[in-house]
Amino acid sequence: MSAADLAPAEPAPWAGFVRRRGEGRIPFQYCTSCERAVFYPRVLCPHCGSLELEWRDSIGAGVVYSQTFLPTREGGGRYVLLVDFDEGFRVMGSSTDDTGAYAIGSRVRGAVDTSDPEAEPRFVFTEEKQG
Ligand SMILES: [Zn+2]
Repeated sequence: MSAADLAPAEPAPWAGFVRRRGEGRIPFQYCTSCERAVFYPRVLCPHCGSLELEWRDSIGAGVVYSQTFLPTREGGGRYVLLVDFDEGFRVMGSSTDDTGAYAIGSRVRGAVDTSDPEAEPRFVFTEEKQG
């Protein structure tokens, strides 16, 4: 095995994540060795130690795992959700509906809010309507 075999395919995966998210994608890494999703971005697969990580984009479909309400000093606030994407990884983001909570286990659609050029893009979730 040579040194090149041990070099990670992407030595700074966080930069790759930030770039992809800035393009409005929901990026995650996928280990082609153990066939599992990896998130946050890593150099090594946390499941099996492989360097064989590739970028994929989530289709944005997931289920609410948990949520909490974050009040602001000015009054009001926003719901912050933990969502399990169908591809097998969990992310934190905000609800697009500031008036109501989503039920644990409800289906949501994720997207990336890049509307504020002064702010870091963030994951946002909208509840999928039934029927
Ligand atoms: Zn792996």
